[in-house]
Amino acid sequence: MPNDIAATDMAESLFEVIDARRDELVALTCELIRFPTINPPGEAYQPCAEFIGRRLQARGFAVQYVRALGAPGDSDNYPRINVIARREGSGAGPCVHFNSHIDVVQTGSGWTVDPFAGVVRDGKVFGRGACDMKGGLAASIIAVEALIDSGARLPGALEISGTVDEESGGYGGVHHLAERGWFSPPQVNHVIIPEPLNVDRVCIGHRGVWWAEIETHGRIAHGSMPFLGDCAVRHMHAVIERFERELYPKLAARRTDMPVVPSGARSSTLNINSIHGGQAEQQGGYPAPCVPDSCRMVIDRRLLIEESIDGVKAEVVELLEQLVRERAGFRYRLRDIFEVIPTMADRNGPVARHTAAAILRVLGRAPEFICSPGTYDQKHIDRVGKLKDCIAYGPGILDLAHQPDEYVVIDDMVASAKVMALAAWSLVNQRA
Ligand SMILES: [Zn+2]
Repeated sequence: MPNDIAATDMAESLFEVIDARRDELVALTCELIRFPTINPPGEAYQPCAEFIGRRLQARGFAVQYVRALGAPGDSDNYPRINVIARREGSGAGPCVHFNSHIDVVQTGSGWTVDPFAGVVRDGKVFGRGACDMKGGLAASIIAVEALIDSGARLPGALEISGTVDEESGGYGGVHHLAERGWFSPPQVNHVIIPEPLNVDRVCIGHRGVWWAEIETHGRIAHGSMPFLGDCAVRHMHAVIERFERELYPKLAARRTDMPVVPSGARSSTLNINSIHGGQAEQQGGYPAPCVPDSCRMVIDRRLLIEESIDGVKAEVVELLEQLVRERAGFRYRLRDIFEVIPTMADRNGPVARHTAAAILRVLGRAPEFICSPGTYDQKHIDRVGKLKDCIAYGPGILDLAHQPDEYVVIDDMVASAKVMALAAWSLVNQRA
């Protein structure tokens, strides 16, 4: 940070500005929650993006809207509209970018409050997206505005984006923008994603994913004479049995150096996502009297940074090929559905280091460095944008994401706004 005494004064005055805006932060969070940006299908993206854009334009930001034409789900009824706001710096410092997704998941059942009303109670804001991640978005907006209003020297540029479709892979959002250079140097140098990873933790990356479908083939016959057919479900049982005996123990024994939380996710994992076998039931729920000629199973394999995606796939193919050799009539088809390579930023890199220092300053305790068991938009910034200096840091409590009665703690939002403002200030004052 620039000079110690000046930095202390600067931090104190910044914190005062943010404390004075507590009510404004709460109001902004509520306003964002009131846009029901449910994905799928991608409701209310445009009004939500324009609300963010209008606010930042009035604060001197240059605002651009980018529609991801042709992205999955994009249509005139559900346009994939992203907003990016940029405020140039006074000199040659690096650019700090805060990226939040504006989409939220379905509400589901179990709510005791209106999920899109923006209810404030007991020091918390309730609503779908309060935690994941409109509270984080609001905190980043207040942080940047306070930083500008504090009169601090800001040689580097500040950017805030509201992007879509994170909950469905980010192809209409960060992926689309990253392909067009929005997340690459020299446009952007450091990225903070205010995902809900808890106010005192710095998330430096995430595990990878491989989703695939395995189909076993059989031969249809009358159910009263199964010996005349070949049951695809029994073949699938053989696959699962092989997984239980050979694959699961191997995966459990593999431990990563990534600081993934919870610690159970520090091993490779495999979820059997679903199984569909046999003929569809007839009207009235009556089963068809047939031997199943097909069984499909979707697997959700999460991989560690020490694993290669090719190795992960080869391991499954090897088990299936063993069955081809050993089991009479065994035939299969393997279909890739989706994959993400694991990503991890350097915990000693600028954005992690300055955010950690800011957490220590604001909360009085050293942060924990973690990785996420699931993925978020950092993958696109790393793989497509080729920008490594990216972390997730935000006020929400991870366990509340996607739950009924999701909320964000107001004190956490205020604290995280201070952390974001202080981290951004020290980052833009680095040499570019
Ligand atoms: Zn999220």
